[in-house]
Amino acid sequence: MTTIEHWINGSPAPGTSGRYAPVWNPATGQKRARVWLAGASDVDAAVSAASAAFASWQETSLSQRTRIMFAFRELLVRHEDELAEIVSAEHGKVVDDARGEIVRGREVVEYACGIAEALKGGHSDQVSRGVDVHTLRQPLGVCAGITPFNFPVMVPLWMHPIAIAVGNTFVLKPSERDPSASALIARLYAEAGLPDGVFNVVHGDKEAVDAVLDHPGIAAVSFVGSTPIARYVHERATAAGKRVQALGGAKNHAVVLPDADPEFAAAHLTAAAFGSTGERCMAVSVAVAVGDAADALATVLERKARDIRVGPGNVPASDMGPLVTRAALDRIEAAVGAAAAQGATVVVDGRGLKVDGHEEGFFTGPSVLDHVTPEMDAYREELFGPVLAIVRAASLDEAIALVNANPYGNGTAIFTADGGAAHRFQREVRVGMIGVNVPVPVPMSYYSFGGWKDSLIGDSPIHGPEGVRFYTRPKVVTTRWPHAHGSASPAAFSFPTAG
Ligand code: NAD
Repeated sequence: MTTIEHWINGSPAPGTSGRYAPVWNPATGQKRARVWLAGASDVDAAVSAASAAFASWQETSLSQRTRIMFAFRELLVRHEDELAEIVSAEHGKVVDDARGEIVRGREVVEYACGIAEALKGGHSDQVSRGVDVHTLRQPLGVCAGITPFNFPVMVPLWMHPIAIAVGNTFVLKPSERDPSASALIARLYAEAGLPDGVFNVVHGDKEAVDAVLDHPGIAAVSFVGSTPIARYVHERATAAGKRVQALGGAKNHAVVLPDADPEFAAAHLTAAAFGSTGERCMAVSVAVAVGDAADALATVLERKARDIRVGPGNVPASDMGPLVTRAALDRIEAAVGAAAAQGATVVVDGRGLKVDGHEEGFFTGPSVLDHVTPEMDAYREELFGPVLAIVRAASLDEAIALVNANPYGNGTAIFTADGGAAHRFQREVRVGMIGVNVPVPVPMSYYSFGGWKDSLIGDSPIHGPEGVRFYTRPKVVTTRWPHAHGSASPAAFSFPTAG
């Protein structure tokens, strides 16, 4: 069986912990590899390599760093098929969907190719007689990323291209459930000319994460995953004096007003709820049907959910692949049962689905629940699977109140033809990313990604301008040119003011 190794100082590196985790193919239910689980000494080896590399990488010219990013971007294009196959084989998502995450991740590399523009400082001439002020932003040192299973390429790419382009070195701890994509990314960076030690990968579980959070050689931690772990990472790493950004879970509501076209809204909600088997932090998991919209919407959603073709991710006819693990499958099917027991109407029941030739795969079908209320577990919990709950609201006011009462605030959408209603919605909802007739409003790479409330712990969204800010520290330099203007201003014992 293949063993997936760490990547330290420009080469694959076996672990030293003696601990491994199985890596599954969710479509077959079979183990496809095992991955090393790092201990503190493996993390320390990666941080040592990254620290050593930082000394020269931060001195490398902006032009040279940018050239490497351009080369890396080209390699991502050339290896898109291979990466998509790897993602599909370990995560389960359909290959076209995997391609989508690779393209969206690559867009962050494209942003990093233009990092020179984002790093430009300011300059103020003659703030006092013969005195100028200018600003610069400098890298932090060794930065670390801890990432979830659901976007094994895109989410790490939200972090390391920007961190590296601005002059940091990086240690990535990807999800242990689908680690192979990160191994290929590390090889592509090396091929692009990135010096050894600038990008490192350590695989692992809590033990590796704790070693990252506590390591005195790491200046900043970027985390994306579930809210309880985001909170834990934020608390522990800030206590250790690190800068931290920690993105958490979600329960995304799409509000459908009576003036929306039910076919259009239902088609988009179906794709947003069941794409990637519902394992997206921006998946729509709650449809809020306002007033008269409800019955027509429920009817079309039922029809569209029944049309979804469930199968292995590498079969082009599949719309939806399996869940990531057997535990996830058991949890989702139990949640559908609990919803029924708590009074929801199971309009489409995905439980017990078997795919021919893949009977051991972690498949469930799409489930649609109607008449869900905020007290039910299916509403309160982030299920992270192919379950769409329909909640009925009497008015736009009630819908907005529902969105705002939810502890999560990652994404939300409104479907309507009424510009005034859309404008009110975008101003009044307490959510970070909003779509108007767009169900999955993931910002482009030149904006920043981040939710509100329990979907983002701390205060720093990820990538785009916020990413540049997070991975750099500002400096302000005040310069006097005493001889250039004939007379130097005299030294003063009083606090200096501009003359
Ligand atoms: P997770 O929180 O279980 O794992 C995320 C990372 O934390 C992994 O690298 C994992 O190894 C590590 N980890 C897990 N348990 C840990 C523990 N007890 N102590 C320390 N580290 C631990 O998340 P997941 O299941 O891999 O991913 C799904 C979750 O991620 C969902 O909640 C989803 O909403 C969220 N997510 C959020 C965003 C966002 O941008 N807000 C994006 C993608 C995924």
